[in-house]
Amino acid sequence: MGKIKQLDDLLSNKIAAGEVVERPASVVKELVENSLDAKSSRIDIEVDEGGLSRIRITDNGEGIEADDLKIAFQRHATSKIQQENDLFHIRTLGFRGEALPSIGSVAKVEIKTSTGLGAGNSLEIQYGKVIAKSKSDSRKGTDITVTQLFHNTPARLKHLKTVHTELGNITDVINRLAMGHPNVAFHLKHNGKSVLKTPGNGDVQQVIAAIYGISVAKKMLPVKNKTLDYTISGYAVKPEITRSSRQYVSLFINGRFIKNYTAFKAIEQAYHTLLPIGRHPIVVLSIQLDPILVDVNVHPAKLEARFSKEKELAKAIEVGVYEALRATELIPNGTDPSNGKKTNQRSEQHTLDLEHSSQQNEQDDHRQNDLVRERAQLFDKFTDSKSSLEEPKFDQIDEKTKRSEPNTTFTEEQQSSKSENSLQRDALPKRVPQMYPVGQVHGTYIVAQNDQGMYIIDQHAAQERIKYEYYRTKVAQVEHEVQELLVPLTFEFTHSESGVIRLHIEELAAVGIFLESFGTNAYIVRSHPQWFPQGEERETIREIIDQVLDDQKTDLKHLREEAAIMMSCKGSIKANRHLRHDEMVHLIETLRKASDPFTCPHGRPIIVQFTTYDMEKMFKRVM
Ligand code: ADP
Ligand code: MG
Repeated sequence: MGKIKQLDDLLSNKIAAGEVVERPASVVKELVENSLDAKSSRIDIEVDEGGLSRIRITDNGEGIEADDLKIAFQRHATSKIQQENDLFHIRTLGFRGEALPSIGSVAKVEIKTSTGLGAGNSLEIQYGKVIAKSKSDSRKGTDITVTQLFHNTPARLKHLKTVHTELGNITDVINRLAMGHPNVAFHLKHNGKSVLKTPGNGDVQQVIAAIYGISVAKKMLPVKNKTLDYTISGYAVKPEITRSSRQYVSLFINGRFIKNYTAFKAIEQAYHTLLPIGRHPIVVLSIQLDPILVDVNVHPAKLEARFSKEKELAKAIEVGVYEALRATELIPNGTDPSNGKKTNQRSEQHTLDLEHSSQQNEQDDHRQNDLVRERAQLFDKFTDSKSSLEEPKFDQIDEKTKRSEPNTTFTEEQQSSKSENSLQRDALPKRVPQMYPVGQVHGTYIVAQNDQGMYIIDQHAAQERIKYEYYRTKVAQVEHEVQELLVPLTFEFTHSESGVIRLHIEELAAVGIFLESFGTNAYIVRSHPQWFPQGEERETIREIIDQVLDDQKTDLKHLREEAAIMMSCKGSIKANRHLRHDEMVHLIETLRKASDPFTCPHGRPIIVQFTTYDMEKMFKRVM
């Protein structure tokens, strides 16, 4: 006799439950998604003991008709797709018809539901068996209570973590659903206590306030971008607020929370050098697109989605966030208590999935190099050779040298060629207001003023930013204007080092370092680009070569980014330099022309403001 036989429904539902309902949070997710698909405008979620003892979801959606209720708990019973073609046009969150039968097979479920026309129906199911049926009231909507979760699957029960962790997961789920559905009023209660309440008035910023706090919500900048295929809207935080993990980037595709590496990268590209290395922004973006462009049928429990035009999507996201960040003045306020402090993210959001976050922290702490490399990959678009900044004059630059004086104005032709680039950073207005230096403190900070108040500028950070933007343009030039050395420089290496160098000889040439083999393990350099930091040519060359040696996998973009940052630090880091008044004026004016005048290339702030009102408050002139 054959050994293969069809599994009975209960068993196959239990197997499906292994994927669909892994823990209380996944039960909550499935049920709330059903409420959303039923067009509810209000969803109440009550959980007790991290969902382990009770989960109750009450919605005011369409409800389930009597006939449908009979089959809703059967495997692959769904009202959401009818034919194969529907799979390519999914607009609902659910479509597999697996959630209710899966949950019903591993818990006790009581459901009361009504379409609002006449009496409703109720059903009780325990571990896959209907144990009671009756009529219920006619309130429109559905009310589901799940208890005894996983009591019939002890192995799974044992796998669960503490109440704290499970609640954290549930909160994450509800936070995401709430951010993706600002039109729906969510109310989450744990052990009778309110955890999250959103107004449901369509205002995402208010949802953000409910989740991350008002002070964060106030620092969010609106993002908007529309392309042929995508409509992007949402909020991106000002760079003065950062987080140590990527968990605070939330992306929604037609209301569905997803994780997508390319989209994450696009957001980080938009923040390029505005954030310190290893820090991440808070971003909430909702993307509307034709469902045909996305495949959400990847995995029942994973948050992945596949896009047919992923690059275009990434570009649209990047442009949207980039423009939001560059459209406003980003000077942090000196009196802001959150300014400069690393806020404790845990207290703000219940991101309590310990496994996940410890992994994340490890990544954050130990992968700075990778991050630099990632950043370097963004290098291209920011290296428009026509938009270089002038180097600051006061900075040991002999003005009589033959350096080509970089131009900051554009000819018409240059302008039109630039407009092809969707990231028109140079078309943006100056975002640092005009200000006038008053004096200098500790040879380090410039104090300036205007009608709005007082500003403190970190002169070294400002110089670094200016130089960085100057050098990143220079270093990306295809043709370098070369300065011949009177006496060639010789560099010696170990045998293995020279092996590495040989592999990267072309990248080094591309940044202006032409190495000629000289004996077995030595190289000579006869010239260097004219714009190399003066008087430090040897160190500059050596440091660029060292970057290749330190990071053998380096690519050209990475090398350029590193070289530009390294050169921008040269001279800038020499602290305590007295500036004349005209030098301060010049520095401020040059900074105002920078494309990112608010942070140094390492993401530290350059300017801090105290408004006139702030000062009046400090001195109790106003209350
Ligand atoms: P799916 O969501 O994939 O269709 P489910 O097992 O989650 O599958 O739900 C089965 C069906 O039950 C849904 O297609 C829907 O018609 C109905 N349903 C479930 N929950 C609700 C609800 N809260 N309100 C209205 N209908 C619901
Ligand atoms: Mg569902």
